[in-house]
Amino acid sequence: MSIKEIFETLDYGPAPEATDVASDWLERHGRRFGHFIGGRFVKPAGGETFATYHPGDARELAQVAQGDERDVAKAVKAARAAQGAWQELGGHERARYLYAVARHVQKHARLLAVLEALDNGKPIRETRDLDVPLVARHFYHHAGWAQLLESEFPAYTAVGVCAQIIPWNFPLLMLAWKVAPALAAGNTVVLKPAEFTPLTALLFAELAAEVGLPAGVFNVVTGDGRTGAALVDAEGIDKVAFTGSTEVGRSIRKATAGRGLKLSLELGGKSPFIVFDDADIDSAVEGVVDAIWFNQGQVCCAGSRLLVQESVAARLEAKLIARMESLREGPPLDKGIDIGAIIAPVQLSKIERLVAQGREEGARCYQPSWSAPKDGWYYPPTLFTDVSPAATIAQEEIFGPVIVSMTFRTPAEAVELANDTRYGLAASVWTENVNLALDIAPRLKAGVVWVNCTNQFDAAAGFGGYRESGFGREGGREGMFEYLKPRYEGGLTRYAATDLADPAAAADITAGLDEATAPLGIDRTPKLYIGGKQKRPDGNYAYPVVSATGVRVGDAPLGNRKDVRDAVEAAVKGTAWTKATAHGRAQVLYYVAENLSARAPEFEARVRSLTGVTRRAAAREVSKSVERLFSAAAYADKYDGSVHPTPMRNVTLAMNEPFDVLAIVCPDEAPLLAFVSLVAPALAMGNRVVAVPSARWPLLATDLYQVFDTSDVPGGAINIVTGVRDELAQVLARHDAVEAMWYLGSAAGSAMVERESAGNLKATWVNSGKQRDWYDDAQASGPELLRRATRVKNVWVPYGE
Ligand code: NDP
Repeated sequence: MSIKEIFETLDYGPAPEATDVASDWLERHGRRFGHFIGGRFVKPAGGETFATYHPGDARELAQVAQGDERDVAKAVKAARAAQGAWQELGGHERARYLYAVARHVQKHARLLAVLEALDNGKPIRETRDLDVPLVARHFYHHAGWAQLLESEFPAYTAVGVCAQIIPWNFPLLMLAWKVAPALAAGNTVVLKPAEFTPLTALLFAELAAEVGLPAGVFNVVTGDGRTGAALVDAEGIDKVAFTGSTEVGRSIRKATAGRGLKLSLELGGKSPFIVFDDADIDSAVEGVVDAIWFNQGQVCCAGSRLLVQESVAARLEAKLIARMESLREGPPLDKGIDIGAIIAPVQLSKIERLVAQGREEGARCYQPSWSAPKDGWYYPPTLFTDVSPAATIAQEEIFGPVIVSMTFRTPAEAVELANDTRYGLAASVWTENVNLALDIAPRLKAGVVWVNCTNQFDAAAGFGGYRESGFGREGGREGMFEYLKPRYEGGLTRYAATDLADPAAAADITAGLDEATAPLGIDRTPKLYIGGKQKRPDGNYAYPVVSATGVRVGDAPLGNRKDVRDAVEAAVKGTAWTKATAHGRAQVLYYVAENLSARAPEFEARVRSLTGVTRRAAAREVSKSVERLFSAAAYADKYDGSVHPTPMRNVTLAMNEPFDVLAIVCPDEAPLLAFVSLVAPALAMGNRVVAVPSARWPLLATDLYQVFDTSDVPGGAINIVTGVRDELAQVLARHDAVEAMWYLGSAAGSAMVERESAGNLKATWVNSGKQRDWYDDAQASGPELLRRATRVKNVWVPYGE
């Protein structure tokens, strides 16, 4: 045999990882598990169990408990009972526990890696080298946040009991992403792992108990989607953190609406992988392998849409097709395997169905010549070319080893194609031109952008979505906020029933609108303010504005859904404001403040005539509003991002970006100050705002547009629609072009906004019918509002030769 022949016939021998450590552990439990509640395994209330399998050969691994409401209630009770003491331990003591957990994970790394590969079907190479080390890293990192909690987050406190629901694609890693920050912040947890992959969560619970984690701090209830739904519905939880499909995320958004719960959603994606013609094509090919064939493509941030500059598309595709041929797919426990098994037959059928549809829709399909193993649930790596951007396979999350390729000519077209999706989780940009990469990254609607790399994760960098990929971040400082709440929130109270500012009372006023409305006069009746212009309301009606003492002070335009839509459209188009420099935005806000200050007596008179407060109180409201404008202007170029120290040779930039369109519905009290306190920081961060001012006393906001008009505020940056608060709020909550919404009104209105925002999963902030003190800077100014006015994008830029 010639040397050439030997090279050509060389094959890998099998290199199986021994599974005895995991088998021993399973046997020790009789291959039968209960829930882990209050520090020990307990039998399910209903006595029902189900099987979990090894996808590599479809063999049953163990029987696991099917949880119901009774199990969930028991776990929540245990978590509640443990929470106070866990929090009172203080940051340092909790840090010691988290550190011990990290150490213990490392000690049992092999058992965890083998068990994870068995339960999930992913290659042992990945569980060993990525999942488990990252799990340990998360606990180390968050041991640090626990230690620093009091000094780094002095104004914040734990949320309470966290319900956490995780998917099957990274069972242990998703556990770590959720559990580590929750525990660091002083919360306790009830976790529901996915039906297909419950085992490592149960092992983790046992390991955590071994290091002495107090009983009830971490609880696991296993089961299917019904158990997840029961956990979301459970009484006594304070927060839901979910990772999984957008569809279930949407149902959780609705199920939690109006319950005063904190919510973070990390959902699906259809992430672009953009290759420019000057990219290192061989590196890009390896990047694609990592982007879509890592974890069998069952990755929420998988680079599943390959966008290639036309001039290099043929070359890249040819190399990719050749590379597919050399990938090795087979038993997950074989150390030489690149691609393991698909989680379950149902997922395999979904992939097969979508691939068949891609073929039917006319795309060209490439698969390697070798065939995938038959005795488990396998699917070969697949590439589609000649795909139309509107094709199902280009739009739907396949969640399998399937990538679709499209071409573009210019950077602008690349950005357009990349953003042509309802999702926004991640993106990858390949070019040797750093200027181009850093120009493209901010234009991509995605929570994470990897430059010349892909699928990089670290505990120090936030991960999470834009748009229908959800909201909230996991990892980094930004991730800690998901498990904390401002201390002042505990002191907020509901509006008193007799309070004129009570939004329910305002609803009463507008309930009589039918008789009270009148055609809009041609006199000084204010108008709506849309796209930088005063605009008559679509219905041409006005409603009476009545002072606190019952005197009709004037009329306000009665905006309707058409007006809201016009205002949103103007905001969508008002990109000049977002593109302006932070310095430029600050100048405009200072100018607004200066002009408001110049007209202070007029505004004071208006405050008095509407709200009936004393002269002194009115002067205070106006001067505090001027101060808030100054504060927002000051922050415009100071509320900046950071560079996260991730362990790779990477500069990881955490950038605070605005939402494109932010809707703000204002309360009735302090009608000028509340409006300014909310709108100014939103504008400072570069959002384009659609604001609904106080429904009862809107005239201060309509007076204010004259100030905007004379202060160089560009058209579309701020749009004002007056009218019935909750009617307008509902249109805004349902509008797909509104990406975030703040609502400060009644409890019922807050619930409505949370429920109705499920359509495009906008990030919402509501007051649940609680009144805040607009004069208190902690409640109405500063970083807390700026944080809500922004979303963090992490851009990973590697360095080195
Ligand atoms: P799901 O979103 O259904 O599962 C995620 C988690 O939520 C699981 O623990 C699941 O339980 C639980 N769950 C299911 N229904 C409910 C409910 N009504 N209320 C509360 N929790 C619930 O994803 P699937 O596993 O069903 O996968 C479906 C599709 O979702 C996949 O084909 C894939 O496309 C996508 N997906 C996306 C992920 C991502 O990170 N982007 C992750 C996983 C899936 P159980 O598993 O026991 O049913």
